[in-house]
Amino acid sequence: MTLIDGKLISSQVKKELKVEVDKIMAAGGKRPHLAAVLIGDDGASQAYVGSKIRSCEEIGFKSSLISRDANTTEEEVLTIIDQLNNDDDIDGFIVQLPLPKGINVDKVIEAIDPKKDVDGFHPINIGRMAKGLPAYVSATPYGVLELLKRYDIETSGKHCVVVGRSQIVGLPMSILMQRNASPGNCTVTLTHSRTRDLKEITLQADILVVALGRANFITADMVKEGVVVIDVGINRVKDATKKRGYALKGDVDFEGVAPKASFITPVPGGVGLMTVASLMYNTLLAARRDIYG
Ligand code: NDP
Repeated sequence: MTLIDGKLISSQVKKELKVEVDKIMAAGGKRPHLAAVLIGDDGASQAYVGSKIRSCEEIGFKSSLISRDANTTEEEVLTIIDQLNNDDDIDGFIVQLPLPKGINVDKVIEAIDPKKDVDGFHPINIGRMAKGLPAYVSATPYGVLELLKRYDIETSGKHCVVVGRSQIVGLPMSILMQRNASPGNCTVTLTHSRTRDLKEITLQADILVVALGRANFITADMVKEGVVVIDVGINRVKDATKKRGYALKGDVDFEGVAPKASFITPVPGGVGLMTVASLMYNTLLAARRDIYG
C-alpha cells in the first residue's frame, strides 16, 4: 500500500507556483492577487479561509479578506461581488461556502465574473470544463487529478466509482475522470444517496473517490483488493483526547480499508491540502490571463 501524501505534493505545487510568481515579479509584473469573501462565523470556513490566506503569503500572492457577519443580506453579498468583479487589482476571488441561510448560493455564484471565478463553480466554467475547453477546474477535483498524476496512477480503462454527486466535488470529479485525457479515460459510475446496493458497485471500483460527508462510511468489505482510494471527506468527530475537542476523519474507514488498497489518501494530510494548492494554481492562471486571455 502506498500512502498518497497530500502534504508533500501540495508543498511541491506551492514551491513551483512561487517560482512562477518570482518570474512575474522579476519581469516587472503585477503581484497576483486573490480575494476571499467570508460570510458568517462557521468555524470550519474560518479555518479554510485562514489556510488559503497563509498559502498566498507562502507563494508570494497578495491576498484580501472581506469578512462580514451572519446577518449580511444577499444584496450586500452581491454588492461585494460586483466590487470585486470591477476591481482591476484583483485577479480572482472566492466566496467561501456554505453561506448563511437566506442567501441563494446559485445567485451568488452566477454573479461572479467567470474570468475571476478561481473556485471554478460558475456554470460557464463547469460547462467549459465538461466540454474540455480551457476553464478554471474546481479546486478539489483538480487536486485529486494532480495526486493521480504525480503518483503515476494509471486511470485509462479503469472503472472509477465516485460516491457523492455534489456540484463542487462528485459531479465535476465524474466528468473529469471520463474525459479523453490523462488522468481520465475511465469508465465512471456516479453514485448518491438514492443508489441501490452501493456496496455491489464500490466493490467493482478500481479507483474509488468518496465525497459524501459521513465519517468512516466506506468499510473494508466495500472495496476490492488493489483499489485506489481517494477520500475527500472531512468530518469533525468528537474526541475528548484532542485539545480542540474533535478529530478530523475521512469518509473512509482508513484502518480497515488501507491494507486492501494499492494507494490511499489519509485524512488529514490528503486531498484537503491539495484543494488549497489547486486554488493557488487557478489564481496564477487568472493573474496570467491564461484561460480567458
Ligand atoms: P454534499 O453534502 O454537498 O454532497 C454529499 C453527496 O453525498 C450527495 O450527492 C449525497 O447524495 C451523497 N450521499 C449522502 N449520503 C449517501 C449515502 N448513504 N450513499 C451514497 N451517497 C450519499 O457534500 P460535499 O460534496 O460538499 O462534501 C462531501 C465531503 O467532502 C464532506 O465531508 C466535505 O467536508 C468534504 N469536502 C472536502 C473538501 C476537501 O478539500 N478535501 C472540499 C469539499 C468538501 P444526494 O445528492 O442524493 O443527496
